[in-house]
Amino acid sequence: MKRLITIVAVVLVIVSVQAQDIAYARKIMHKLTSPAMKGRGYVKQGDKKAAGFVVRQFKKLELSSFTDDYLQPYTFPMNTLPGKVELRVNDQKLRPGYDFVVSSSTPSMKGTYSLIFAPDSLYNDSTFALYLEGLKFENSFLVVKGKLRKHYGKTIPGLKGVILLTDKQPWWHVSNGAEVVSTCWIKGKAEYFPPEAKSVTLNIETEFRPSYPTQNVIAYVKGKTDPERFIAFTAHYDHLGMMGKRAYFPGANDNASGTSMVLDLAAYYSKPENQPEKSIVFMLFSGEEAGLKGSTYYTSHPLFPLEEIDFLINLDMVGTGSEGITVVNTKAYNDVLEAMRAINGEHQYIPEIKPRGEACNSDHCPFYQSGVKSIFIYTRGPEHTAYHSVYDTDKDFPFTAYEGLFRLLTTYVNTLQ
Ligand SMILES: [Zn+2]
Repeated sequence: MKRLITIVAVVLVIVSVQAQDIAYARKIMHKLTSPAMKGRGYVKQGDKKAAGFVVRQFKKLELSSFTDDYLQPYTFPMNTLPGKVELRVNDQKLRPGYDFVVSSSTPSMKGTYSLIFAPDSLYNDSTFALYLEGLKFENSFLVVKGKLRKHYGKTIPGLKGVILLTDKQPWWHVSNGAEVVSTCWIKGKAEYFPPEAKSVTLNIETEFRPSYPTQNVIAYVKGKTDPERFIAFTAHYDHLGMMGKRAYFPGANDNASGTSMVLDLAAYYSKPENQPEKSIVFMLFSGEEAGLKGSTYYTSHPLFPLEEIDFLINLDMVGTGSEGITVVNTKAYNDVLEAMRAINGEHQYIPEIKPRGEACNSDHCPFYQSGVKSIFIYTRGPEHTAYHSVYDTDKDFPFTAYEGLFRLLTTYVNTLQ
């Protein structure tokens, strides 16, 4: 009997160790953030390479597919920067991605343009408009330190380009890449644009792809007793891709972290001993960075009725966690917040679960808007701050709350069975 108890104890330990596998998650992240994946965007088929990698993981786990190959192809328009992205201020050559970023709505540009430094007082729309009225901008770029963020990526009549200066690492985003405008927007590090600089020389080669072909990757584990009801785990596997021939954006936290956890959850539920009562679907979307394209496409072309999804958990940027997690939509779903807090109160998985109201800031949103009960979880903490930059790498990646969040999710999902 004693021996039997020991065996049972050993089995329990093994099962709990297998409950999450941070080594597996790190391996996945390392692969997804490698130069070979080209930033999982729209240059050199980065997104396709990443999708192929995810498919191979799903195959290894022997997950079920709604299609022949786990893939759901679709297209969207995207302006890309596959060629030269060169910038010189006076005679100094700056590095794309590191010293400056170019808006993804930019047209191709080649030439030397004079720089006009706007006064620091240019902080709001009306002062900006007034300032523009009084100036002639032939063949020149306006250099601004103010906060003109909401104009970023838009046409400003009369202006060839705008350089927004920042003291921080400039963020890039590609959500305005669906159209090309006539103003070239650049965000640059202030230190490289001294007020005495006279001109900027640019050579930017863009390629507009009206129907860039991409794909969502979707698999599921069939439920034991209630296979027609689904719990969904979602994450976007895409990131920003490349700017020019060399600079790539690895997107470790955004969102190789969420992709790793979804794959790890898939590995967990694919084990016979963990087979759930309801089916569990794992949806990895592309096009999130381009403006929630993959999840939006999915909700209008679902692979099974959306009404069969009982609950959806979206994971995006879950690599930190020293300060806990935030759960978007829990102001609408207080029951979810209370249940998660009760579990966490008992097990102390993570430091804090913070509620947040609706926010259309990741792939849960199109589902929520289609009536699917959905939440979005991200972790909080200062241990990894690189965001939308070439520095969001997996080097010394914290994964602080990885284990705690994994356990919270699987314990919570058990209550939904
Ligand atoms: Zn992002």
